Amino acid sequence: MRKKIVAGNWKMNLTLEEAKTLHKDINEALTTTNSKCDVYHFAPSIYLNSLIGNDQVVKTGAQNGYPAKNGAFTGEVSMQQLSGIGTQAVLIGHSERRQIFNESASFLKEKVDSALEEDLKIFFCCGESLEQRESGKFKETVIAQLKNSLFHLNSTDFSKIIIAYEPIWAIGTGKTASPEQANQMHKSIREAIAHAYTQEIAEKTSILYGGSCKPSNADELLNQPDIDGGLIGGASLKASDFLEIISTYN
Ligand code: PGA
Repeated sequence: MRKKIVAGNWKMNLTLEEAKTLHKDINEALTTTNSKCDVYHFAPSIYLNSLIGNDQVVKTGAQNGYPAKNGAFTGEVSMQQLSGIGTQAVLIGHSERRQIFNESASFLKEKVDSALEEDLKIFFCCGESLEQRESGKFKETVIAQLKNSLFHLNSTDFSKIIIAYEPIWAIGTGKTASPEQANQMHKSIREAIAHAYTQEIAEKTSILYGGSCKPSNADELLNQPDIDGGLIGGASLKASDFLEIISTYN
C-alpha cells in the first residue's frame, strides 16, 4: 500500500514562537495518537534550525532551496545547506514559486537533481490555472510539468519523489476541486508515470492533493482511491484543524 502523507505548508506565516509552539503541539498530539500517516511541516527556512531536533514524529521540510551547492547567490539557501542542518524534505515547483518568482521547468529540474543529490525528500508540486482548467487543457498542462522537470530521472530516483497536485484556482481561494475532479487528475498523473516508468512504480507513487483542503472536506478528498494525502496551507496553521485533517487516516 502507498504511504499516506499529510504535510503542512506554512508559507511565509507565523512568528518563531508560534512556529515552535505549533510544531511542538502537533508532535505531542501525534506521539499519543499513533497516527497512521507521515506528517511533515514545511517551515520558513529561517525557522528550520529551531524545529529540527524537536521533530520526533513530524518531519521538517523547507519550502524552497537553491540548486547550486554554494557561491555568489545572495539571499539564497542551497539544498546542500538545508540538508546540512538536518532538513528532511523540500517543496519544489509550488505554484507560488512558479508564478511569483518565475521559476521555469528547467530551473525546477535543476532543483530536483540537486535535492536528490542531498538526499532531501522531494515534494514536487504541479497544477493548472483557472484558465487552463476552463480551456480543457488542464491534464496536458500538469503532465507537461512532470515531463519537463521530473521524467528525466531514472526509476530509482523517481521512486523517491512525492507528487502534490494543487490546482492553482483552489489554492487559498476556499474553492476546492471536487473529490471526483481531484481523483481524476491523480489517476491521469498515475497513468503518465506508468507510461514513463512502470505500472509498479506508478502504483507506489504517493500523490497528494492540495488547495483549500480543510477539516470539513478532508475526509471525502483524502479518501479517494488515487489520493494519498494532502498538502495543506491555511488549515495547517491551526493545530486543531491540522490534527483533524491528519485524523482522516487514523
Ligand atoms: P491552501 O494552500 O491549503 O491554503 O489552499 C495549499 C498550498 O498552497 O500548498
